Amino acid sequence: MSTLYQSGVNIGILGGGQLGRMFIQEALNFDAHIHILDPDSNAPCSKIAHSFEQGDLMDFDTVYAFGKNKDVVTIEIEHVNVDALDQLAAEGVPVFPQPSVIRLIQDKGLQKEFYANHNIPTADFRLITAAKELNDHLSYLPFVQKARKGGYDGKGVQTIQSSADFEKGFDAPSVLESFVDFDKELSVIVARNMNGEIVTYPIVECEFNPEANLVEFLFAPAKVSTEVEEKSRVIAENIISKLGMVGILAVELFLTKSGEVLVNEVAPRPHNSGHQTIEANFTSQYEQHFRAILNLPLGSTRALAASVMVNLLGEKGYSGKAKYKGLESVIAWEGVFPHLYGKENTKPFRKMGHVTIVNESLSEAKKIAQQVKETLQVIAE
Ligand code: ADP
Repeated sequence: MSTLYQSGVNIGILGGGQLGRMFIQEALNFDAHIHILDPDSNAPCSKIAHSFEQGDLMDFDTVYAFGKNKDVVTIEIEHVNVDALDQLAAEGVPVFPQPSVIRLIQDKGLQKEFYANHNIPTADFRLITAAKELNDHLSYLPFVQKARKGGYDGKGVQTIQSSADFEKGFDAPSVLESFVDFDKELSVIVARNMNGEIVTYPIVECEFNPEANLVEFLFAPAKVSTEVEEKSRVIAENIISKLGMVGILAVELFLTKSGEVLVNEVAPRPHNSGHQTIEANFTSQYEQHFRAILNLPLGSTRALAASVMVNLLGEKGYSGKAKYKGLESVIAWEGVFPHLYGKENTKPFRKMGHVTIVNESLSEAKKIAQQVKETLQVIAE
């Protein structure tokens, strides 16, 4: 198949947050024109896109009209109107990832069934339609309840330890997933273009902030055996091939204490666990997504050095116009790369930016990352 690329190619993105913003930064190197649809007039992409339209991503007519005149349509968030994307695709607009993939991934229940049907290792699960059915699963405790639709960043996910927790259960169609006593959370990013070419990034390890349920640190490469790395790569490639998906797919994994690798969930777009690829790999995840959706040859995923990514979350106790305390100190250190997402206002735990630390040695990068974490803070004026 030939490429969709040409200089000045018009790409429409549903969503204008930080992922879209970093995509634009890379797409400019290819002289592409990026058009954004987002409900927030102050979204991180609003001031840097070739065109920006404020509108509801869940509204059929808005999404359809936005996509109609684009050369390619993609997403940076899964919560979008898929019927409109289906319609666009049926009328010949290339939409990547494909609408059928977005529909599957929007629903954690369908996602789990997909893994089960394709022998992809994942934690056992059951499906319920409302909170009152929690009582039917007493013998399954403890489990993690996940709302099938609409969750993100740990919202819509909660652990149910005992029947005493049933009263806080979500009253919505949900997946009940057996509790995984994991050793590490890992992520593998894989990309596929229309020609079926596949590339996989080195495996990374994510450390979560327990209070915010958000990734706080990311370590690349992950400290795991080559066997675990290989198993994870095979799983990621298997998923993207079985989905027949075009674009970038982030595969979040659990490494259990007994050495098993289980799929937690996937995201069909650039992902928080791939930010470090901007500085630390030959081809960033954003450029890779660009190449994949335009059916260009995929780029080398090889790491140039070890890296650590620190998410810059809004400091507790501060809300209002964001101020970055300590920025001048941290950028004086070698291999420290800040990315501020251009969000005007901070609030506790809001993702305001990230910092990538690149170093020949992972343990040195970790030390610097710890210093960055202690020195750089997002507070309010
Ligand atoms: P989201 O889509 O909001 O990111 P996830 O399904 O990734 O939600 O869950 C958020 C976090 O909850 C995970 O990163 C993990 O730390 C924890 N978690 C999810 N599922 C399980 C499970 N089955 N057992 C133990 N912890 C889990």
